[in-house]
Order: sequence, then structure tokens, then C-alpha cells
Amino acid sequence: MPVEVKMADLVRLELVDPFEAEHEDPKQIAKRLTKAGLIEHFNFKNSIFSLARRASGDCQFLDAKTRRCTVYDKRPNTCRLHPQVGPRPNHCPYGNKAQSR
Ligand code: SF4
Repeated sequence: MPVEVKMADLVRLELVDPFEAEHEDPKQIAKRLTKAGLIEHFNFKNSIFSLARRASGDCQFLDAKTRRCTVYDKRPNTCRLHPQVGPRPNHCPYGNKAQSR
């Protein structure tokens, strides 16, 4: 499953500038991020972006060797709220699933 994020997450991840987020058409932002290979889908109706994944299915921010999140402090809300999130700093809640594929 791709990680679904909102504009605020993209700003926190520093993929979108706060000014741009406020003033630019989300469709244009989605177009730019898709072209850059950062998102793989944009749901216009719900304004939800799906982060691009690697060919392995891993999140682009997952370190392939350590299986840790490389953007842990800036990770999207969906990762913060994931039921598997435990008291393990820097670990990706999706990491284990991706590993078992
Ligand atoms: S916690 Fe996992 S899914 Fe979320 S950004 Fe980090 S590596 Fe990606």
C-alpha cells in the first residue's frame, strides 16, 4: 500500500514550500511531484497524495539496509498514526510488511 499524505505532510517533508502549498493549485503541485518521482497518485477529490514507492514496494524514505525511516522526525501523519507504531524511534511501521514481500 502506498503511503497517503496530505499537503501539510508534504510541507513538513520539505517536498512542497509552505507558500506554494497555500497559493498554488494542488493539481499543479501533484504534476510537479509526479514528474520528480516523489508521488505516484493524486486524488483530487480528497486532496490526498500517494507517495511514490521503489520497485521493491518500499517507501522511498525507507533505508533499504537498516529498514529505518530516513525522515522519521518529518514523517507523514499516516505513519505517526499507524497502529503498529510503537516506542521504537526511527522504525517504519510499514517496514516489516515491505520486508516480508
Ligand atoms: S515511517 Fe515508513 S512509510 Fe512513513 S515515511 Fe518513514 S519510511 Fe516511509
